[in-house]
Amino acid sequence: MAQPGEARLLLGSPIATEIRAAVKLDVAAFQRLNGYAPALAVVLVGADAPSAVYLRQILRTCRTVGIDGRLVELSGEVSGVHLRRRILELNDDPLVSGIIVQMPLPHDIPLSVVTDAIDPAKDVDGIHPLNAGRLLLGHPGFVPTTAQAAVELLKRSGIELRGKEVVVVGRSNVVGKPAAILLTREDATVTVCHSRTADLAHHLLSADVVVVAAGHPGLVNGAMLKPGATVVDIGINVVNQAAVDQGPGGLVLVGDVDFASARRVAGAITPVPGGVGPVTNALLMTHVLQAARAQVEAATTSVIPVGVVRQ
Ligand code: NAD
Repeated sequence: MAQPGEARLLLGSPIATEIRAAVKLDVAAFQRLNGYAPALAVVLVGADAPSAVYLRQILRTCRTVGIDGRLVELSGEVSGVHLRRRILELNDDPLVSGIIVQMPLPHDIPLSVVTDAIDPAKDVDGIHPLNAGRLLLGHPGFVPTTAQAAVELLKRSGIELRGKEVVVVGRSNVVGKPAAILLTREDATVTVCHSRTADLAHHLLSADVVVVAAGHPGLVNGAMLKPGATVVDIGINVVNQAAVDQGPGGLVLVGDVDFASARRVAGAITPVPGGVGPVTNALLMTHVLQAARAQVEAATTSVIPVGVVRQ
């Protein structure tokens, strides 16, 4: 419960629970009809610790909803050619419905190795250029889940977006840019700020809604916000607790927003953890189911779905 003078908390878990419950029913129906469960292949290149935590959460969510979560582990020494070959094999496996590849990749492998190899029909996190183009044009396709989760959390929490001034902090292809496009679709007036924005605070002060995805703890604080603004903190940063609240030390997760000061000024705010993250995972499950259904339909009608690129 928010105390007087404190922002309402926008919690992701109840929304995620609702989404998962609906997907679970639909996955069971899919399995009854088709004799197999939708499957998500999660490709991990190298044992990167923060990614591994995120991975475990995804695989747990898969189990919760009845999706077959498959971990595909590749050594951190793997070559781009080998990674591409492995993705093409997963594209060709009729029992794999969706594929995600954990980022970051090893430095010597360009991101395009993954984005261009993944079959757009299995690209459940919307990283293939075809899905990115569809998003831009407003055509149906897979949307990056984190960006979608931020917007879904706002909508399901009853935050009005139409005609509102929204500032997105961050312009990455996976989060900031798609979030800005989706928010524009909701009839918000969107400003995108980034590392070269001259005066971030100036933009933030007139924002009704602030969506932050920069990867910098404490980048946005209460003094930068318009009173009553809604704040969605997408950032996930692993920091030493002593640096946050003089606590006993040890590693903790924080967002990009200085929660304590922002909560005193904002009208509503997402916590980290417990805000966007759970919704992201739950939405990923809906994408896997959507992919599985489209693939069955394509197989039974012998029509290659728009976007299936034979490599
Ligand atoms: P990225 O590094 O690719 O992009 C960061 C963006 O922030 C860039 O566009 C950059 O211009 C901008 N930026 C950096 N410093 C800035 C500054 N001082 N002022 C304004 N803008 C600045 O990161 P990303 O992949 O977009 O991820 C952003 C954050 O979101 C990270 O903390 C990441 O861990 C988190 N994330 C969360 C989820 C989730 O499910 N909640 C999923 C993916 C990423």
